[in-house]
Amino acid sequence: MHHRPTLAKINLSAILSNYQQACKLAPKARQVAVIKADAYGHGAIEVATYLEPHVPAFAVAFLDEALALRAAGIGKPILILEGLTGEEELRLAEQFNFWPMLHSNEQLLALMSLTPTPELQCWLKVDTGMHRLGLTPVDAQSWADKLCREMKQRPVLASHFSCAEVLDSPISKHQMQQLFALAAHMECEVSLANSAALIRLPQSAVGWNRPGIMLYGCPPIADKTVAELNLQVAMTVTSQIIAIREVMPGEAVGYNCRWQAEQKSRIATLAIGYADGYPRLTNSASEVFLHGQRARVVGTVSMDMLTIDISHIPEAKVGDEVELWGGNIPVNEVAAHANTIGYELLTRVTQRMHRAYL
Ligand code: PLP
Repeated sequence: MHHRPTLAKINLSAILSNYQQACKLAPKARQVAVIKADAYGHGAIEVATYLEPHVPAFAVAFLDEALALRAAGIGKPILILEGLTGEEELRLAEQFNFWPMLHSNEQLLALMSLTPTPELQCWLKVDTGMHRLGLTPVDAQSWADKLCREMKQRPVLASHFSCAEVLDSPISKHQMQQLFALAAHMECEVSLANSAALIRLPQSAVGWNRPGIMLYGCPPIADKTVAELNLQVAMTVTSQIIAIREVMPGEAVGYNCRWQAEQKSRIATLAIGYADGYPRLTNSASEVFLHGQRARVVGTVSMDMLTIDISHIPEAKVGDEVELWGGNIPVNEVAAHANTIGYELLTRVTQRMHRAYL
């Protein structure tokens, strides 16, 4: 039971449609649905349950995220992007059909000390240029050799682009060449493309792709719209007007008087704040949507509330619904006004915001 009129409305069929769009971009490849960070704030269990009949596998960041999905009854393989270290974690992976993406010599030494069965499908992460996680190509080759010999399996060779959204990036080309050369030599499958690469670098989208952000209808590339990419927005955040007042020229609104009325203005207070995940440090151009129009966020965003200028919307009244982001206000736009990216806003929607599944 919830009483607060502040919701993240999640359209699960939009997520499926976006997944199918990812499949259309790479019809010969397989797509692992990336649902880490609670499916980018959309609810990992709900999203996985809905997508499960349509996807070959899911990906999460770490073991506990995968275990929570199994506890909820999700049966498909789950790729663990950060890899697994230590006997207990690797045993759990074997038991629960998780695919570890092993990225360090320590993780591989731990694996080999367990004499794992071939059922434990391993992925090796190769550092081709991100310099965050991954084996050197030389180490990856020797571990792939060892896995072939001792586990009678060919690992999937994976890497992650550092600049997939950049058009014609020489760094991406170099990363792709390195991984593909290694995989051809080892006769292993590859996994490289995330959402931006599926769109920008179709030549990289072979083997296993790992789309995340596009599944949620958020363009991974700043200059493309949802419609241009044939995506559908999956999350719409709405709240309500809980108070309206008039302020006179020179009067300020909110903490630290950051906004001052230049003329007589009508200010509405909404029941959403930074403790719900709306960015506090938004600039003065951030907008919301109500009555078919946009309205400016004015004043400092508070913990539970924020204020908007509705002087140009005389019909607005207490109880009206307002969209903070969604189909009318792209999440990437709100993010840009807060000097961040849509990924961060989606994953920072807090637990106190009720999710309503459509
Ligand atoms: N693969 C890895 C290793 C990742 O870390 C991520 C996300 O951060 C993804 C795939 C999905 O990327 P995106 O959400 O940009 O599609």
